[in-house]
Amino acid sequence: MDNNKKAVRELRIKRVGEALKRNNMEFYYADSASDVKGIVESLMKDGDTVTHGGSVSMAECGIRELLSSGKYNYLDRSKATTPEEIKATYRAAFSADVFITSANAITEDGVLYNVDGNSNRIAAIAFGPDSVIVIAGYNKIVRDLHEAEVRVKTEAAPPNCVRLDCATYCKETGRCVSLTKSGSQMYDGCSGDGRICCNYLISAQQRHKGRIKVIIVGEELGY
Ligand code: SF4
Repeated sequence: MDNNKKAVRELRIKRVGEALKRNNMEFYYADSASDVKGIVESLMKDGDTVTHGGSVSMAECGIRELLSSGKYNYLDRSKATTPEEIKATYRAAFSADVFITSANAITEDGVLYNVDGNSNRIAAIAFGPDSVIVIAGYNKIVRDLHEAEVRVKTEAAPPNCVRLDCATYCKETGRCVSLTKSGSQMYDGCSGDGRICCNYLISAQQRHKGRIKVIIVGEELGY
């Protein structure tokens, strides 16, 4: 990347970082995806019980390999085979030491915005694990909550519906059906069983200072 553009990008990320800190979240800057693993490692202790939400950003940073290293008690959701085991893994996340996820969007005033279908991810962000580590590429930064809504409806949910093979309007057309009508609300969308936008979490100033740690990467990651 052009060095001048990179410098401006870093300045924007660091402004968002200051806003996150004002909202009682910790902030870490990673120059590239390859720098994320070391930061995540520094935020966990050997023997910690660790799990995560579904996250393309996390996978792109090699975090699953770190969790599988044997240093941690890794609650690996991919090992669950029956609906009962999957449900048990999701519930165990509430008493984990560390939960790792990404964010659908981060506003310039330091607010995390996440939309979920199954909603185990947003539940664990809001309550349960002692520590929540959020890994987000530069592309997740938006001006405000309105941009965050649009980002989910155009850039996050459609590729996730393709990835998860959910039969939705956005999987077929590339954008949320709510964008085809004027005056739609945040919660407007499709009505089929495959819908992945069901619960909406806005994480503003936190009561538990430092529980949420946000790593913003100077590269595009995830959706
Ligand atoms: S509400 Fe439905 S169509 Fe709209 S973004 Fe979510 S899954 Fe896609």
